[in-house]
Amino acid sequence: MPQTTPLDLLKTYFGYDRFLPLQKEIIANVLDGRETLVLMPTGGGKSLCYQLPALHLDGLTLVVSPLIALMKDQVDGLRANGIEADFINSSLSQSEVSEVRARSLNGKTKILYLAPERLAVSGFRHFLSNLNVSLIAVDEAHCISEWGHDFRPDYRNLKSFRTLLPGVPMIALTATATEKVRQDIVEQLGLRQPETFLASFDRPNLSYAVRPKMRSFDALLDLLETHKGEPAIVYRFSRKDTESLAANLSTEGFPALPYHAGLDSSVRRTTQERFINDEVPVIIATIAFGMGIDKPDIRLVVHFDLPKSIEGYFQETGRAGRDGLPAECVLFFSHHDRMNQEFFIKKIEDGQERETAGRKLDQMIEFCEVRTCRRRYLLGYFGESWDKESCGGCDICLTVREEFDATQIAQKVLSAVIRTGQRFGSKHVTDVLRGANTKKVRELGHDRLSVYGIVRDLGVEEIRHTIGLLVGKDLLAKEAGDYPTLAVTSEGRNFLNRRENLTLTRPKPEVDGSAGRDSDQLDYDRALFEQLRTLRKEIADTRGVPPFVVFGDVSLQQMAYYFPQSNESFSRISGVGTTKLQEFGDSFLRVVRDYAHKNGLAERSAPVSRRERRRPARNLGATYHETKRLFEQQRSIADVADLRGLNWGTIASHLEQLVEAGETLDLSHVLPSPDRVSAIEAAFKSTGSGLLSPIRELLGDGYSYEELRLVRMHLRQSDGERLSTRPGNQRVGGDLYGELRRA
Ligand code: ADP
Ligand code: ZN
Repeated sequence: MPQTTPLDLLKTYFGYDRFLPLQKEIIANVLDGRETLVLMPTGGGKSLCYQLPALHLDGLTLVVSPLIALMKDQVDGLRANGIEADFINSSLSQSEVSEVRARSLNGKTKILYLAPERLAVSGFRHFLSNLNVSLIAVDEAHCISEWGHDFRPDYRNLKSFRTLLPGVPMIALTATATEKVRQDIVEQLGLRQPETFLASFDRPNLSYAVRPKMRSFDALLDLLETHKGEPAIVYRFSRKDTESLAANLSTEGFPALPYHAGLDSSVRRTTQERFINDEVPVIIATIAFGMGIDKPDIRLVVHFDLPKSIEGYFQETGRAGRDGLPAECVLFFSHHDRMNQEFFIKKIEDGQERETAGRKLDQMIEFCEVRTCRRRYLLGYFGESWDKESCGGCDICLTVREEFDATQIAQKVLSAVIRTGQRFGSKHVTDVLRGANTKKVRELGHDRLSVYGIVRDLGVEEIRHTIGLLVGKDLLAKEAGDYPTLAVTSEGRNFLNRRENLTLTRPKPEVDGSAGRDSDQLDYDRALFEQLRTLRKEIADTRGVPPFVVFGDVSLQQMAYYFPQSNESFSRISGVGTTKLQEFGDSFLRVVRDYAHKNGLAERSAPVSRRERRRPARNLGATYHETKRLFEQQRSIADVADLRGLNWGTIASHLEQLVEAGETLDLSHVLPSPDRVSAIEAAFKSTGSGLLSPIRELLGDGYSYEELRLVRMHLRQSDGERLSTRPGNQRVGGDLYGELRRA
């Protein structure tokens, strides 16, 4: 494919006009023949990072992926885009495997997906060594690490790639970013000086909310009503509960199916398929559900019970909104669930394990109880800072709070703590305040205290919440330990003795904090969208693929907004590449035209993908600005990397993205001498490409990749209009800059 740029391939095959953050840099690194480690959240667009290079490279790209179901979906998706892809796993018959082998050997297959256990078979290794392999991609690479949450012993086989296909570069990808797992991946795979690309783990299209678990079944019905007909997952702690909740929801008119590890594998498979094929919208599941799910259009994830850890919670909520469209994550929190979990943790025999589980649960509870931005908490947990005032997408940031006079309730709570002897935790104190008739209350004679039953107008959760606020105000102290007890602080005593007033804040009731962010979604035509969905489902069924393989919701929404009337305008819809235009253009255009005609609607011009327009904000998250801040203190890239605990390549790619987004960086302290800059500049000009390896070939080993990359950044930054007077900076033809920017 002479002179085809990655950007051309992106539109032709995938139908997209722009790269998502880091994709371009990663692809350039892969095409430079270097090794790559990619850490990106779910939905970040990892697959494209090896699928697009595969089209550019001469030989075949091998992709290792742990899940059979996902392989088929991925291959179906690639074929729908006109890409020759195949897979080999245990679901194929002997003769099907032979066919795939033949296609791979004669160079027809461009991308071949493999299950890792295949590598243990010597006959199969022999087959691989006869292939012309250009690239090896290891998806879900954390599966190789025992430190990860999903260790798969078969992944250890992947090490043999290094002897089997020496010299073939690897790219490893994962959404798990802990340092330990990261190092383990590099070691276990034997990656050679990989560039690491660490994307922000923020999921800007997800909104987060924690709600008290009160009347939660009704609350769930409300949520499902607002997401009627849209794919949703509700996570539950126990298998039994998934079944009863699914039955109750179905009775209420919300078709739902349970999913847990105790079900027959054939039942599990059909449930999963029906969900993926848009035949049942709601799944009630234990955490066993999800790994095999790549469904891009999940609009709601509910945690009906408390998750065990932030990692788990982030992973499960992460399954929402992969397609970049708004999605909602709601967690119902109660102290009862917490005690349930603690009960299980106490039974763990291994001391170390028990302690870890306890700590993780504490952090989960902290997340539920924070009164500051949830997104900031989540990102902070994964080591990322978030310095914006409001995220605009969590219950805390979206809730308007009001002040109220808390003098009386505070007096009552503090008195109850004193009267019961400052020996009890918030559960018992709450019971006493509410006048609950528990065994403990009776045995201790607390039903005879003057404070017994003096708060009748508030529910359990509200009282406990108030106790939390009083702890936050230092009027109460919570003793650490297995059963944290409450005591009144000296400040609390002063408050009581001096009869001071207290004002606290609480959410303003009328405001619904659950809404997503100020939706910058297209205001598309809902009726047309439904018609297009129906057509999509029909086509998908005829072809035996999931609906999202035909088109994603983003594409359908754009059609239902721009009303394209011609092939030309249809091809500008995001997700429409050459093959999909040919295969599906007529059918979808017919529906759009009919609808537009009947309703007197005209085509709207110049579709621009909303998703792409939204990107820059995410592109330049806090992590980029932290890099910029340190870099502007005239530090070297290596120093910034050290300070941030990241590597050189990540910092360099942060800088590249900042430049790309139009920031002007002073690079003078990191650029090589002016004559070297000129030589490199001339080399870029003569190859006419933005790629590094041809430049290196031209200039020889005396020039390092690092140096070339810095100069490339410098040239990108100083395009025609913004030529600076820094040394070594000369005007070069406009074409080259266009090329550099696109590369
Ligand atoms: P991940 O594997 O990181 O979870 P995927 O590779 O499944 O992410 O991509 C997530 C979604 O983003 C998919 O629906 C994919 O089609 C879409 N996507 C990927 N790259 C782009 C792009 N450059 N522009 C628009 N959408 C993209
Ligand atoms: Zn927030």
